[in-house]
Amino acid sequence: MKCRELAELLVEYVAGDLEPSLADHIKEHLCLCPPCVRFVETYQVTIKITRRLPMVAMPTQMLDRLREALKQAGVQDRCEDK
Ligand SMILES: [Zn+2]
Repeated sequence: MKCRELAELLVEYVAGDLEPSLADHIKEHLCLCPPCVRFVETYQVTIKITRRLPMVAMPTQMLDRLREALKQAGVQDRCEDK
């Protein structure tokens, strides 16, 4: 699994909506990719913060921002083929 694919599935993964086989792929990737572990942690914190806000943030916008953060961290190129 690529970091980018993980980012796309993260919303469902964190929500617990992901099918078990895909969730396993994510867990596997997280074992091999510390930057993605930090990414998931950041995402979970973001969810907690946005839940406290009166307005619900748009998930796609949030995901784009997280992807951008991931790109800036240079995570993407590291395990491109994994
Ligand atoms: Zn990764």
